[in-house]
Amino acid sequence: MIPVKVEEKLFQNRYRVDAGRPHINIIDSATCKTECKTQECTVCCPAGCYTAEGNGQVVLITDGCLECGTCRIICSTYRNVAWEYPRGGYGVLFKFG
Ligand code: SF4
Repeated sequence: MIPVKVEEKLFQNRYRVDAGRPHINIIDSATCKTECKTQECTVCCPAGCYTAEGNGQVVLITDGCLECGTCRIICSTYRNVAWEYPRGGYGVLFKFG
């Protein structure tokens, strides 16, 4: 059996982006900057959708989201993430799932 890296497996997935209608939104970005000290979403998202900027802001780009729901429950500022599944026909297409 040939070992395969997780990154290579994730690359097999395909995404249909719903342009202009992200299915996840940060409700109050100021809260991420001023109240959240740990910004877990920037570490725990398996797709790397959250990025910690140098100025304390958190940037969310949902392209490539695996729809795992981790960011929905891990937000330490309690429900600062508005989360829903993408509209039908959009989102991740798992090749092996
Ligand atoms: Fe990342 Fe999962 Fe949240 Fe998508 S649902 S942004 S993959 S943590």
